[in-house]
Order: sequence, then structure tokens, then C-alpha cells
Amino acid sequence: MPGGKKLPEFISDVLNTFWSVTKTVTVFDVIDICLISYVVYVGARIVKETKASQLVKGILLFLAIYVVSSVLQLKVFNFLLKNILDVGLLALLIMFQPELRRILERVGRTKISIGNFTELNDAVKERLIKAIDAVCDACEDLSLNSVGALFVIERTTKLGEQIDTGIRLDAVPSTELFRNIFYPKAPLHDGAVIIRDGTVLAAACYLPKPQKEELIKNHLGSRHRAAIGMSETSDAVVIVVSEETGTVSIAENGELFRELNKTKLHKMLTARLIPVSGKSDTKKSGLKTRKRKTQ
Ligand code: ATP
Ligand code: MG
Repeated sequence: MPGGKKLPEFISDVLNTFWSVTKTVTVFDVIDICLISYVVYVGARIVKETKASQLVKGILLFLAIYVVSSVLQLKVFNFLLKNILDVGLLALLIMFQPELRRILERVGRTKISIGNFTELNDAVKERLIKAIDAVCDACEDLSLNSVGALFVIERTTKLGEQIDTGIRLDAVPSTELFRNIFYPKAPLHDGAVIIRDGTVLAAACYLPKPQKEELIKNHLGSRHRAAIGMSETSDAVVIVVSEETGTVSIAENGELFRELNKTKLHKMLTARLIPVSGKSDTKKSGLKTRKRKTQ
């Protein structure tokens, strides 16, 4: 035992020290710890969800080398590393400006849900359920007939800018309507349909391009890119049907989930759009879909 103490004495010392430290903890310390834990948790999730994990590994390695060189007092090397660190921080902010913007936008969209605060009203929920059914039926049909399509289902980010580029419809969603819109020779087939609160607000809408287009796989054409772009700049769920392959995909938060059959599509849309006891949870579907890295 440390200091030649017996086990009971040692345990009592540890408990006394623990008690004296606990006595000094104030409610502000607890708030402090909770906030730090939350920030670390959010940071870890962002790193896990994005491509930042490789970067974080690189930075940690760099910091480890810096610490070792400081301990060994390698003056010139240390000076060099310190300057790289100073400039590197600025370079990181510039390089990751789009990602930082997206993270801040996401934080801004975070809903604080108390009880049923985030629940949709019943009429909207009913319309959304019908819209999901119509979109899924239409996707199956369009996919079988190799007709390209693009559906955007708005969530909290308002898509007025994109709606203004298209033609206003204010229509009730139905499989027939979607087939009519996307039929290759129809006047509104080019562009995306935008659905808000279960109503088809507009068709032939132009969607934004992705922020890092050059990093998206070459085989993905402009329709899939537009879907990724829209999902990067908003929390909308975007559904794409490929004209070339008939593949149905969902774009969300800049990622593309591909090769969905009707059942998977329906489950994923329901999990994302219909709140379950006060929450619209994107993780609840528990589906293992094929996620293609797009960037
Ligand atoms: P597909 O697998 O269906 O061929 P793709 O990803 O290869 O899709 P393209 O073949 O380039 O893409 O599809 C072109 C069509 O995609 C256009 O005719 C248009 O309807 C739609 N589209 C392309 N870019 C946009 C955009 N920015 N916003 C809305 N619709 C777009
Ligand atoms: Mg194509």
C-alpha cells in the first residue's frame, strides 16, 4: 500500500479525499461538466458522421509530435511545428468553411422538444402519410418504367427559393399526378417536385448543386448531384429515381442511400417524416441500406 498504510486506512483516506472534493462541488460545476460532456458528445458524433475522422487523427498525431518535440526541447523543429499549427488553424477554418456552415445550420435547426412540442398537427400528419404512400407507389412505377424523377419533401428549412424556380401547383399528392409530372414528354418533367406539409407545392424546380461537386463519384449525373446538393443545404429528404438504372435513392444531409425497394423507401420516409411520440427520428428505421460515399 502507498506510504506503508494498511488497506482499511488506505480506503478510508481515499473516501475522505473523495468526500472533501465532493463537498466543494457546486451546482455550477455540475452544469459545467454537463455542458462539456454534451460538447464532446456532439463533437464526437460530427466527427463520426463526417469525413473529419481522418483529419482528426492527423491533427492528434501532429499534436503528439509537437508535445514530444517540446519535451525533448528540439527548438528549431518545435518552432516550425508551432508556426504550422498557427497557420494550420486558419487554413482549416477556410478549408472546412462549407462543413462548418452546414454544422452551424444544423445546430440552428435543432428543435428543443418538450413533451409533444414537435408533434405535427393531425391534419398535416394525415396528409404526410398519404404523400409518403403516393411517393412510394410512384417511385415503384417510375422505376419499373425507367422514368427519372426527383422529389423533395420539406422539413424545417423552408425551400421558398427553390419553389420560386418552378411552377406552383398546390395539389394533393397522388401516384397518377407524379406519373403525369415526370412522364418524359410532359412540360413539368424537368426538375424536382417539392412537397410541403403533405401538399405538392411546385414542380419543375431547380435544386442547388453540391458544395464539393468534384468529390462526388463520376457515375452520378446531375439529377443525383442536385439531390445531394439540396440535402446539404437543408434538412429536406430528397428522393431520386434514376432514368438510366431505375434505382431509387434517398439523399439526406449530403449522403446518398441507394438501391431502395418500395418497403425500405416507405420505412425510411416514415421514420424521417412522421414523428413518433414527439420526435421525428432519422435513426428509428433501423434499416441497413447501402450508403454510397458521395464525397
Ligand atoms: P439518371 O440516373 O436519371 O440519368 P443522372 O443523375 O444521371 O440521372 P442526368 O442524366 O444528368 O442525371 O439527369 C438530367 C435530369 O435531371 C434533367 O433533365 C433534370 O430533369 C434533372 N436535373 C438535373 N439537374 C437538376 C437540378 N439542379 N435541379 C433539378 N433537376 C435537375
Ligand atoms: Mg443520366
